[in-house]
Amino acid sequence: MSFTVHGLAVSQGIAIGRAHLISHAIFEVVHYSIRERDIPAEVARFEAALAAVRAELAALNAEIAQPGTPSELAALVGVHALFLDDPLIANVPKDLIRERRCNAEWALVQQMEQVVAQFDEIEDSYLRERRQDIVQVVERILRALSGKPRRMKKGGDSEIVIVAHDLSPADTIQFKNLKIDGFVTDLGGATSHTAIVARSLAIPAVVGLHHARALVREDDLVIVDGRRGVLIVDPDPRVLEEYRLRKREYELERSKLKRLKSARAATLDDIEISLQANIELPQDIEQVRQAGADGIGLFRTEFLFMNRDTLPDEDEQFEAYRQVARALAGRPVTIRTLDIGADKTARALNGAERQVPNPALGLRAIRYCLAEPQLFLAQLRAILRAAHFGEVRILVPMLAHHSEIVQTLAMVEQAKQQLRERRCKFAENVAIGGMIEIPAAALALGPFLRHLQFLSIGTNDLIQYLLAIDRTDEAVAHLYDPLHPAVLRILAQVIQTAHKAQTPVAICGELAGDPKMTRLLLGMGLRQFSMHPTQLLEVKQQIVMADAERLAMKVAKVLRCDEPERIRELVESL
Ligand code: PEP
Ligand code: MG
Repeated sequence: MSFTVHGLAVSQGIAIGRAHLISHAIFEVVHYSIRERDIPAEVARFEAALAAVRAELAALNAEIAQPGTPSELAALVGVHALFLDDPLIANVPKDLIRERRCNAEWALVQQMEQVVAQFDEIEDSYLRERRQDIVQVVERILRALSGKPRRMKKGGDSEIVIVAHDLSPADTIQFKNLKIDGFVTDLGGATSHTAIVARSLAIPAVVGLHHARALVREDDLVIVDGRRGVLIVDPDPRVLEEYRLRKREYELERSKLKRLKSARAATLDDIEISLQANIELPQDIEQVRQAGADGIGLFRTEFLFMNRDTLPDEDEQFEAYRQVARALAGRPVTIRTLDIGADKTARALNGAERQVPNPALGLRAIRYCLAEPQLFLAQLRAILRAAHFGEVRILVPMLAHHSEIVQTLAMVEQAKQQLRERRCKFAENVAIGGMIEIPAAALALGPFLRHLQFLSIGTNDLIQYLLAIDRTDEAVAHLYDPLHPAVLRILAQVIQTAHKAQTPVAICGELAGDPKMTRLLLGMGLRQFSMHPTQLLEVKQQIVMADAERLAMKVAKVLRCDEPERIRELVESL
């Protein structure tokens, strides 16, 4: 039966594919005892599940042999196939079924717990990280035991749409290495980091669907409309045809935009605008190139720390930052120091995953770094060393207090001194900037302008804190309003104050990548935008059609208004 669920559109485009439910199958396993005479049948059921997973992996292997599939995926399937045939997974559960008379799922999960515990003891971090592969293989077998094996292809539709109750930013970043065509979640807000990662992957996504995970079945045909925030399950043929057409139109629009890549980003009245890119991992550089960005305005380094049991040490970080610095060949690379905490967690970090009542207001970002000076110093040294290979700048998140700025600068000096003592090459003159994402910072810019060389406004957090709306909570997502008069005024004020002080100011929050906001921001005087590379050409298209001086006059009128409907009308007519 066809039905439609509405949520929040967070990443454009249309995906038409088969639903793959992400479940924590391991937690859903039922435990029961079997009769003596049913043992052979239970063992046979287990063996059949192993055979089904073997076939699934073989089909997957054939699929990923096609050109263009990331090599990491082939490696992952290879590792899964090895574990599947390991006697610890393939044989021991059968012994448990026979000896303890437990059902196959229960036997498998008991054995998995044993194996995983052994992995936790291993010193070698690479091997220890293979623990997750075991869990995934076990999940595959459990799914096969449930009689709902995952089919990668059905009919002509090979696209995969992930359907989950919730996905963490750490889960979503892993999609960069997998062929996922879209995803939907029950929870989440439009500027949650999960949504941000979806935009950087350029895959259609809808969040805040409430009950999708419970309503959709594995392998259902679904349409994700990332523009309208809609999930259509089991569409009827007319709707399906209509969406196939829309999808082709969207792809055509995107390919036309590519022509703008080499165009100058300047307004009609010849004001040059800098369009930079936000990235999460060094591998995103390719997209940055394709979009023709002027540099990197935000490198969210915390993603280097996720999905692993050990921290990236100074050398590993240095390699990652250097790779980006070199690839950008003299164009600016703005490396943001670790912004961990709130919805971004990393199990390797001491205390960053602890449960606190209000994580968004807690020990996150620079607060965490100042509380963990050795970790912070290692990152600063890595950045300073990489700065020797390009135009690297340091950006510090979540600053609010004068004392935090002073302490941060002292730490940078200390990191430099350590490098001097080690006789290590590094850049002495690295520009240091601050993110303006706490209202207190925006309202008291003095120390930022006196001590720092540039500013970058993080509108995602600034709006969250200004309006007291949790950016990850779909229950209050309708109140997360970038056009609230308080938001508009605070943005205009920060931009103007920075200009007066001749301090460069950019926006690197999601607002900068929203083409509907480009004219408004130009009219406020913004000249530097940083966004996901996938959004850059759409924003450039707006810029080349805009007259900045005329927009400034019109935006002055918007800023005087405090009627929500009127503001919306005025912004639409800019
Ligand atoms: C912001 O808050 O706007 C920002 C760019 O940082 P993040 O989204 O990573 O919190
Ligand atoms: Mg932020």
